[in-house]
Amino acid sequence: MSEKKTEARFIVASNRLPFVLARGPDEEWTIEAGSGGLVTALLPVLRNRGGLWIGWPGTWEEVPHLHELMGRVGKELGCTFRPVPIDQDLYHDYYLGYSNETIWPLFHDLQSRCVFEPHFWQAYMEVNRRFADEIARRVRPTDFVWVHDYQLMMVGEQLRKRGVTSRIGFFLHIPFPAPDIFMKLPERQTLLAGMLQYDLIGFQTQRDRRNFIQCIRLLTKNIRVRAVGSLHRIWYEEREVDVGVFPISIDYRSFHRRSEEPAVREWADEAKAALPGRALMLGLDRLDYTKGIPERLRAFRHLLRSRPETHSRVNLIQVVVPSRAEIAGYDELRTEIEQLVGAINGEFTRRGWVPVHYMYRSLPSLDLLGYYRAADVGVITPLKDGMNLVAKEYCACNADGKGVLVLSQFAGVSAQLGRHSLVVNPYDVEQTSEALYQAWIMPVVERRERMRRMRRVIRRQDIFWWVNAFVRAAIDRHLEDFPVLEEFIPEMMD
Ligand code: UDP
Repeated sequence: MSEKKTEARFIVASNRLPFVLARGPDEEWTIEAGSGGLVTALLPVLRNRGGLWIGWPGTWEEVPHLHELMGRVGKELGCTFRPVPIDQDLYHDYYLGYSNETIWPLFHDLQSRCVFEPHFWQAYMEVNRRFADEIARRVRPTDFVWVHDYQLMMVGEQLRKRGVTSRIGFFLHIPFPAPDIFMKLPERQTLLAGMLQYDLIGFQTQRDRRNFIQCIRLLTKNIRVRAVGSLHRIWYEEREVDVGVFPISIDYRSFHRRSEEPAVREWADEAKAALPGRALMLGLDRLDYTKGIPERLRAFRHLLRSRPETHSRVNLIQVVVPSRAEIAGYDELRTEIEQLVGAINGEFTRRGWVPVHYMYRSLPSLDLLGYYRAADVGVITPLKDGMNLVAKEYCACNADGKGVLVLSQFAGVSAQLGRHSLVVNPYDVEQTSEALYQAWIMPVVERRERMRRMRRVIRRQDIFWWVNAFVRAAIDRHLEDFPVLEEFIPEMMD
């Protein structure tokens, strides 16, 4: 094993560190490792390779013994965590402000919801600088730095300003808007020039990449763009920047295996038995205006109004997971959803049949897998979505292979699964309603064939494929070149 190889390490930067800090009733802080798909996929890469994960610890409160707690969970997971402290005011302007009231709505094509406040941008830059300071203190030239998502787009530029020459990759988990929309951003030029300091930029879909390249062509002078294999290469000043498409995914095998466990089977059977002779249509989303929940409810109401034969024979199960309660507009959205649910149930409920079953809470994993397993139709109709993992999880867990996916053409996932699902424009209430109807009456043979094909796509391009594809494109060599160390030695805390 050469000296040079053992020096190469992975450094990941994301807004949040992958653990949950919580304070118990006795004021004691506890820490638990996170369990999301990204964590599952990245940990094998970081584990025992001297991996470093940098992010906000999830609270602005003073946590006594934070380093000790992080050391404990780091040891468990086999990598080192470094916190970037952000106090409440800064968090407000950086995270709730610039990230979620400027970039989030703009990049989801909903510019009328954007708040453009100069001090939001100042806070965003301040946090991006803090991340860069923390990375720059530890990075070596042979390391690979992987920066995640829209909260940290300027970290690469700040690292270059600090003289960092290592390879740096960036992945945008949300969509990238078309030029007409992006042009509205006051910081458009600075942001694009900043992004061009990465060596590799990854997007979810071809459409996002095309939008980005069109914006670059419009707003940046003296650039050249050419396809190089599956990547596009941009020549800008003295730099070469690769731009690729890497649709994020799930741990397919884990979802599939867990959906087959006896407890999940039993849960799903009971859920079906409680609604005998009914088709279960499932909507499951974080509370967000990008998810198209009111539009979906209106489409379902249209189905009930236009197709009376569905009465007593279909149910919409709509789960809304609480999210971003501090941001203006989210509470109004919840009210709108709940009024619509009330109105639909008020109009159609009859003895033994309540058409919409609504839940506003997050689900324990047994219930989540149980609903995925039991649902006859997955209704994924966001107005815009980077990918939408719920669609992939639904397919992975749909054990009898008879589930149908009704899918928005504006969800990133439709680039992969659109051919085998019923694709709709979520703004078109009649079309969505008709797709729900077609899903309901679709013959079993056709359902099975479509689901089989979708599952194959997700199985082949799972979350491990995604990490590997990105890393290979970024550092032009296999993961094995970043050798597993014999023993995990956490970095010294300072
Ligand atoms: N999810 C969750 N708690 C729940 C229900 C769902 O954590 O009660 C998960 C779900 O399994 C999925 C994620 O939330 O992995 C949602 O991801 P998606 O890409 O669909 O949308 P996002 O919320 O990231 O916009």
